[in-house]
Amino acid sequence: MHGPVDRLQRGNRIGRSRFAAGEVWLADVTLRVHMGSSTVFLMYHELERPGRPLCQTEPGYVRYILSEADFREHVKSLAARGWHGWSVGQALQGVPSAGVVITFDDGCETDLLMAAPLLREHGMNATFYVTTGFVGKAGYLSVQQVRELHGLGFEIGCHSKTHPYLSDVDTERLRDEVAGAKGQLEQWLGARIEHFSCPGGRYDARVQAAVRDAGYTSMTTSRNQANGVSTDRFELGRVAVLRGTGADGFEKLSAGRGLWRLNLGDEIRRTAKRALGNSMYDRVRGALLGEGK
Ligand SMILES: [Zn+2]
Repeated sequence: MHGPVDRLQRGNRIGRSRFAAGEVWLADVTLRVHMGSSTVFLMYHELERPGRPLCQTEPGYVRYILSEADFREHVKSLAARGWHGWSVGQALQGVPSAGVVITFDDGCETDLLMAAPLLREHGMNATFYVTTGFVGKAGYLSVQQVRELHGLGFEIGCHSKTHPYLSDVDTERLRDEVAGAKGQLEQWLGARIEHFSCPGGRYDARVQAAVRDAGYTSMTTSRNQANGVSTDRFELGRVAVLRGTGADGFEKLSAGRGLWRLNLGDEIRRTAKRALGNSMYDRVRGALLGEGK
């Protein structure tokens, strides 16, 4: 908890409140230099191998599914640049060299069968956010496989119990999805679970408070932004890596180039969700993506 991020935050607060103007300036410069090297958190889901059925098949799901071959190219692209793949926990403690944070949502079996071997081959880490209610279902990790992933040194995070939009559920259900799922994972692994990711990227202040109260130390969203020293640890951005993202697109994404354009799209979607509500928004989106054809 005493990595460069914490030190800089403390330095900057002290600079603002207690020291002379020159030192405030110095703290601000330091902050800006660090922000210049802010880290992109990447969000993956299930991986696809020819002939192997996916966990779900609707277009809204499949657009987040990459082929195993594309993911292999991404890992090779990082390695060729001398970049590292970090877990969320490592990044929050301050990382010593260039890299990205690699995360997987949902807890699909391909986390262990396809992603883990490729990451290990290149000495990279990652955080796998598991949905506890999916564990043991066809195509998802079993309890034993979650333990295996953890035993290999990867970080296990929580992605709720049943994957609802958390901003839509009542207080009791929210606690069960956030704190209940944490307790279940901790019981399975005999280890502390510190990081949470929001299903469907949906959250609000109430969700943030529930995650904080449950004892997590971070929460990731699906906001297209890199994370730096000033980013709220309970509102960390993550960039979705979409189906068909090849080596060129990946290089741009991992370096955080073009995120402003994605951010603009986010803003438009957020406005639409607010205006329509989550369920109507999903119906409209499904129609636009050709669901039901
Ligand atoms: Zn999910």
